[in-house]
Amino acid sequence: MRLLLFDIDGTLVRTDGAGRRALDAALAELYGWEAATRGLWFGGKTDPLIVRETFALRGEPPERAAAELPRIAQVYLRHLERELEVGRAGCASLPGITALLDALCAREGECLVALLTGNIEGGARRKLEACGLAWATFRCGAFGDEAPRRVDLLPVALERARACAGRAFDPRAAVVIGDTPADIEVARAHGALAIAVATGASPRESLAEHAPDVLLDDLSDVDAALRLLTG
Ligand SMILES: [Mg+2]
Repeated sequence: MRLLLFDIDGTLVRTDGAGRRALDAALAELYGWEAATRGLWFGGKTDPLIVRETFALRGEPPERAAAELPRIAQVYLRHLERELEVGRAGCASLPGITALLDALCAREGECLVALLTGNIEGGARRKLEACGLAWATFRCGAFGDEAPRRVDLLPVALERARACAGRAFDPRAAVVIGDTPADIEVARAHGALAIAVATGASPRESLAEHAPDVLLDDLSDVDAALRLLTG
């Protein structure tokens, strides 16, 4: 049985920068910082790491960023809800995703559909639902608030999957599906299968440089994706 670990931003959905706008709004509200994340690359990073790097841009120490995280998360989620509502036209699931998830859910005995994302859990849920994907589709997940380094989220996901399915998963039975080099690195670090999709922020060429096991333009060929994912 395969454990399928889907990234969210650029892999399952696009939300047209709602997360960045929400974080900027939260940091402006809390500290008076304007466009605090300008120039910062978000792709593949966890939310806590993005906050830490934003604080570093201001000369603020990582300890302060860590201490402020719960407060920032609360305000961020409020702004994210509004951004997803206002920017609804820019929110969508990516090509093939709805059909692929439906097909995977129909093969429940062959795979466990789960999340491995840098989003904090509340942000993950809001983004997926704003794009028309049901939260219940994903049986479990590992989220950005559980480890600042993305690579440390795979063991969390394995533990969640064990609790959820009532059986242990070998990392080599896990598949990491993502749109950035960081997703590929997570899979590599644990011996999981790396499937990269060029539907997000990273161009196909830069994904290719990191040598994923499979590199796809998108997941629109649902039959081919099903064969890959369910082995
Ligand atoms: Mg992504």
